[in-house]
Amino acid sequence: MTLLRPSPMPDELAAGYEGRLFRHNGWADAKEAMRTLMAWTDNKTATRREVSTVELLARAAGKEVGQFVRDHTLVPLGRAVTTTAPGIPHGSEARTSLLSTLAMRRLRSGAHFCVECVKEDYGFHGMPYWRREHQLPGRYWCLKHGCSLSHTSAHDAYMRSPTDFIEMHQVVSEPWLHGLQQSRPIERFLAICSDLLSSRHPLDEQHVSRAARARAAELGLHTGRGAIRRPLVSDRVKRQFDPVWLNSIVPGLIDCPDGTYWLPVDASVFGKRAGVSAIAYSLVFAALYESADAAIHAMLSQPNAEAPSPLPRARSIAVDDTRLREAYLATHGSHIAAAVQVHVGREIASRRLKALGLPALRGQRATAIHDVIADVLGGDMNFREACIAHSLPQAAMQNILRTALTPLTQALGKIQPLKPRSPGTPRRKRTPDLPPMLCAESATPVDGVEANAVARRRNHRQGAVRTAA
Ligand SMILES: [Zn+2]
Repeated sequence: MTLLRPSPMPDELAAGYEGRLFRHNGWADAKEAMRTLMAWTDNKTATRREVSTVELLARAAGKEVGQFVRDHTLVPLGRAVTTTAPGIPHGSEARTSLLSTLAMRRLRSGAHFCVECVKEDYGFHGMPYWRREHQLPGRYWCLKHGCSLSHTSAHDAYMRSPTDFIEMHQVVSEPWLHGLQQSRPIERFLAICSDLLSSRHPLDEQHVSRAARARAAELGLHTGRGAIRRPLVSDRVKRQFDPVWLNSIVPGLIDCPDGTYWLPVDASVFGKRAGVSAIAYSLVFAALYESADAAIHAMLSQPNAEAPSPLPRARSIAVDDTRLREAYLATHGSHIAAAVQVHVGREIASRRLKALGLPALRGQRATAIHDVIADVLGGDMNFREACIAHSLPQAAMQNILRTALTPLTQALGKIQPLKPRSPGTPRRKRTPDLPPMLCAESATPVDGVEANAVARRRNHRQGAVRTAA
């Protein structure tokens, strides 16, 4: 049997890859397509329950199932905090039931794409594809281009090319989007989600909830199940996030009066396993901490939250800096994934990487970071202008530079002890401004001439396809 097997693209969503695989092979009927894949993988007698869709897709893609799940599904985020088998890594074939039920699950309705990415994909790859990062809950703009993501509610969107929707789609209003992009709590939430998306193992909910409870108590919030005499963590969440945006993450919460217990969020500070979703935990930690780094550190620093390691603790701590740096490069700047690669605790890895001047990149593009630095040092732009020009949040870039300069500042401190800085003019404390409450509105279709040109180019280009017997 001959099967056309397209290579999965970087960060391509598994469901979108499935659509490309079907289109390349001319399969119109999904059931028939799956039967063909089952036969190709020599699973003719197995039932569909025994062999999950994601396993078949991983085989077609030529990747190990766990790697395919971690690179192309939303499982690492959706299952980031769990009560079910926390010791099992994401995508493990040891739990086929998890692969069947979770691997292809969406975390928000509709399908999202960036028109600018579609145009670039034509030029660079010869075809557009559905990106996983664009399907994250609460993500309304493209990290690379800074523009609004386009949205379609077509039920079969991922089975088709994003190009099919380039003339008929929706985007959110510009003023609303601008408000979201200025919101520090939303920036923290998205940074936490991106970090969790790069993880290999889930976290045990019990430990995460204990960390949330301790922080909530420190801030004077209600914890546990007793009578409510203090503000709830859900009240704090409502205060910090744009209400329309928040309603897309936890529908119904904004209609709940202050002081009313909202189980899907307030149970996060029980200090026990309560079945709260990883998305709700990301929201709560983004509301409890002033920085994403501190929030992620708190989520990860609990005992037994590490993946089980066969190495004794003393050996884990003695990790080699060269190996850690190599792991950092191989995992595109992820502290969590680098820690897993070298079998060292996440907290330890993060501390060591920061000492080496290597910050957690959290999905920020290496080229954009490089371009911001080049433009600022070249005197072409000031810091703010460069961040805007390359679609990088200023706070994220400041954190990156602060960490990158750590080795130098530490060395300078040793060469000549630093004097405390003069307080100077007191700076006004910035509080997060809530963006104006504007509903998402119907979008402007992209320029028709441009879309037609893109569609014409599609007809002349073929994606990278390999053939296997
Ligand atoms: Zn884009």
